[in-house]
Amino acid sequence: MQRARRVIPGGVNSPVRAFHAVGGTPRFMASASGARLTDVDGIEYVDLVGSWGPMLLGHAHPEVVAAAQAAAARGTSFGTPSATEVELAEEIVERTPTEQVRLVSSGTEATMSAIRLARGFTGRDLVVKFAGCYHGHVDSLLASAGSGLATFGIPGTPGVPAAATEATLVLPYNDPVAVEKVFAEHGDRIACLVTEAAPGNMGVVPPEAGFNELLARTCREHGALFVSDEVMTGFRASREGMWGLDGKVEGWAPDLMTFGKVMGGGFPAAAFGGRADVMAMLSPEGPVYQAGTLSGNPVATAAGLTTLRLATEEVYDRVGHASDVVAAATTEALTRAGVPHVVQRVGTMFSVFFTDAEQVRDFDGAGAQDTRAYAAFFHAMLDAGVYLPPSAYEVWFTSAAHTEEDLDRIVSALPAAADAAA
Ligand code: PLP
Repeated sequence: MQRARRVIPGGVNSPVRAFHAVGGTPRFMASASGARLTDVDGIEYVDLVGSWGPMLLGHAHPEVVAAAQAAAARGTSFGTPSATEVELAEEIVERTPTEQVRLVSSGTEATMSAIRLARGFTGRDLVVKFAGCYHGHVDSLLASAGSGLATFGIPGTPGVPAAATEATLVLPYNDPVAVEKVFAEHGDRIACLVTEAAPGNMGVVPPEAGFNELLARTCREHGALFVSDEVMTGFRASREGMWGLDGKVEGWAPDLMTFGKVMGGGFPAAAFGGRADVMAMLSPEGPVYQAGTLSGNPVATAAGLTTLRLATEEVYDRVGHASDVVAAATTEALTRAGVPHVVQRVGTMFSVFFTDAEQVRDFDGAGAQDTRAYAAFFHAMLDAGVYLPPSAYEVWFTSAAHTEEDLDRIVSALPAAADAAA
């Protein structure tokens, strides 16, 4: 870590990997297999981070590794169209309401490009987002809410000019009145509303019944595009993502969607897509510019395609079962130790809030957590060989590779960790 800090800011290449929220020194991992991570000191952990979502099948799945190796041997980048890109795009289009997708290399690129496309398509500038929803480090989306119900964003970080967030309106999540109000006031200037299909970046906050449908309908009424960010939930919450859980029931269909994480099988691959008439605006056929040297990279697309093909309903049942076991045992241990908490879930995804609220429905609710209790819990679990997210605001990601033995190890570590948090 000392060497890392000399040459890499904070010693990490993405801030969530640091232990700033929980204290202590991050573990350096040397290898991973199934549901286990092994650090450079040879200590093994049962993993509940899953590289922040992608590892649906577990680490180093033999077929995913073989596909990536075979692809790499054929050539690591062509800079031309290739068959695997088409097959991966077909797989995404088959599972989602998108008609066309374009592949990119990160979720950030996907949402950034979707917003540019929405602005190009509508000829409007304003973007609506929700406090607590994360869409990658896109300038215009790194906006905090000012005071008041529906506010123009203020930059959430130095380095983002006020001009970049002036056109972003930030609303409280799960608040239909705020949505209707902002569209009543600014509807004819709004290019798009972007939302996580089910927020996972403030912990799991399920959309209330009909909320996504209301967003879709309101956008349509005002000629704005509805952009559903499924970078985290896509191919994770269910085989068809959050769309499969919520969309079909409520009858909402996004105009644009974004994907990442699982669809890359642990490699840098992401996508945005949606209505064919909107996607037709993209270069080279349309005027909205978007590009990428490594977009649709053959190694990443081979790993992603193999992952999606292996991710059958049976896989989602196994991932869901692992979440059932861990969520129930965590509730039991925390309840017994008298630690206030609430577990929230969408499909196979869940998170645990260390709060005395009965329910968390927005960012303010998510913020009212006992982060010191979580830090104590986190370190007790880490000492017992369970790797949880080093922040109280994250999903606990299970995988199809979590065996009963892995789950037992988690379950048996919980009572002492709950006591540490009490
Ligand atoms: N959108 C959502 C919902 C995410 O959860 C994330 C990352 O966590 C992103 C976008 C950004 O993706 P990436 O980190 O690949 O840039």
